[in-house]
Amino acid sequence: GGAGTASTTRQVKLEKESELRIEVANDTPLRLRLLNGTAEIFGTELPPQIWLTFPPHFKFAVFTWYGATIEMDGSTETDYTADETPMVSYVNVHAVLDGRRNQAKASPESSQGPRVIVVGPTDSGKSTLSRMLLSWAAKQGWKPTFVDLDIGQGSITAPGCIAATPIELPIDPVEGISLEMPLVYFYGHTTPSQNVDLYKALVKELAQILERQFTGNAESRASGMVINTMGWIEGVGYELLLHAIDTFNANVVLVLGQEKLFSMLRDVLKSKPNVDVLKLQKSGGVVSRSSKFRQKSRSYRIREYFYGIANDLSPHSNIANFSDLSVYRIGGGPQAPRSALPIGADPVANPLRVAPVNFDRDLLHVVLAVSYAQEPDQIVSSNIAGFIYVTDIDLQRRKITYLSPTAGELPSKYLVMGTLTWLET
Ligand code: ADP
Repeated sequence: GGAGTASTTRQVKLEKESELRIEVANDTPLRLRLLNGTAEIFGTELPPQIWLTFPPHFKFAVFTWYGATIEMDGSTETDYTADETPMVSYVNVHAVLDGRRNQAKASPESSQGPRVIVVGPTDSGKSTLSRMLLSWAAKQGWKPTFVDLDIGQGSITAPGCIAATPIELPIDPVEGISLEMPLVYFYGHTTPSQNVDLYKALVKELAQILERQFTGNAESRASGMVINTMGWIEGVGYELLLHAIDTFNANVVLVLGQEKLFSMLRDVLKSKPNVDVLKLQKSGGVVSRSSKFRQKSRSYRIREYFYGIANDLSPHSNIANFSDLSVYRIGGGPQAPRSALPIGADPVANPLRVAPVNFDRDLLHVVLAVSYAQEPDQIVSSNIAGFIYVTDIDLQRRKITYLSPTAGELPSKYLVMGTLTWLET
């Protein structure tokens, strides 16, 4: 590919089993449509003739199984055609999963469909593979549950969260996952090392709730789960992967693009004969993102939460009294002095301790989660309704101004603070 491709309408003819890889320009959107043949974007078929608009920076591929002609209008950072892709191996995995779903549906004893977990380093294509497996399954009428454990670049909601949502239709190539009532838990940070125990506790909560939902829903139980994970695979990251595999009772582990991780997981999971560990090739199209770009896209995700992907939402500015709301922080907080502890005990703070936060200027530009908790001691085990963004703290009048997706009262007065901030631009 080359930089600064001319900004004119042009056509690209794709041979069977090849893809057109595109990075949209940094400042202008790109329009694209399928002229003839059939093609898909990450598992979702393109409607014939209809123009789709992709926002700046968007990175994606249009893949065809049987051949297609694509038309583009607008400029790209890069666009090139590739005929070497791992798509056949990915769709073969899908076929195996589909077989297991049918088995689960047919047999009342093992009515549990596949629980797939996708693991690998950052930028190995985990989210993309998860998306394809979900969209292919939904296309065949299944309702798989998508679980996103990636607190850094989650695709269900704002960063700093783990979340789950049923996928009933192939995922929209532009809009992404539709946000109808996802089940979201707020971790509050974008790295797991900040509070490993909290991360584990939330993963456990999420798994338990899903387990409960599955008991009453044969259809989603047979459809199974696709679990996307974080790119941290060393040290504590590896420990958290094992914890997730265990907690969700994953029975298919897909390892993308790392031999070492594959062999470690295969060895450690040998003792569990019902767990299959598979190695899959990373696609050459996966774009590596710098940590600066990742930081930017986190900030963009938060913006998207309030304003929508195409600036189509208008958040409300609300004012509340300090006394109407309570902000809490999980973990950290003041530690007990060593002198107050039994001899030999470490003065570490309880990582799941919930402590009130004072209203002061530190709350400015913070993204707070709105908890469904009824009492402070339920905060760790409660999921969240959404987020607010603090735009002003008036210490004199004891009032807080915040942005919220909706007008009116919040569903709860309990707010949770982590280290998630945002500078509205
Ligand atoms: P991970 O989840 O492992 O960090 P992603 O699946 O998010 O990686 O992929 C990283 C980036 O590469 C994303 O922006 C994604 O849209 C893009 N990408 C993935 N596969 C392709 C492909 N075949 N062609 C072009 N871009 C791709």
